[in-house]
Amino acid sequence: MPEIKYCRDCRRIFQYTSGPVLCAVCRRIDEEEYDKVRTFLRDFPGANMKEVSDNTGVSPNKISRWLKEERLEVSAESPIALNCESCGIRIRSGRFCVDCSRNLAREMMNAGRELKNSLKKSPDIKGEGYGKDQFGLYYKHKEKFDK
Ligand SMILES: [Zn+2]
Ligand SMILES: [Zn+2]
Repeated sequence: MPEIKYCRDCRRIFQYTSGPVLCAVCRRIDEEEYDKVRTFLRDFPGANMKEVSDNTGVSPNKISRWLKEERLEVSAESPIALNCESCGIRIRSGRFCVDCSRNLAREMMNAGRELKNSLKKSPDIKGEGYGKDQFGLYYKHKEKFDK
């Protein structure tokens, strides 16, 4: 089912099918610009953001976006700075360095495991002052505060 969306670049309404949220016109421009930047970076891997932007006519914002979206990758020697959002180390595309993405994935897994453990543990709470309500939720008795 095609959806009606606002184009990310020109804000016109268009019938969205898939991929980036761009109307047919902007999508064609986007692809042409992307090709230009990619070709330029292949020929001049040491170019900085201003040189790339000046020579391709593509705004630095767009180039940064492609880098973050991992559509574009800069060479290891490229002065185009892209930093890991977690530790700040230099990366070539995306948002996080290899180490941080691995840590983030691990943290997410641990968080999931801890949640599972705590859910498993909760029926054992029989300490004083705890009771179970009709929904099966544990709560702390507050009678002693009701004097
Ligand atoms: Zn558009
Ligand atoms: Zn990092």
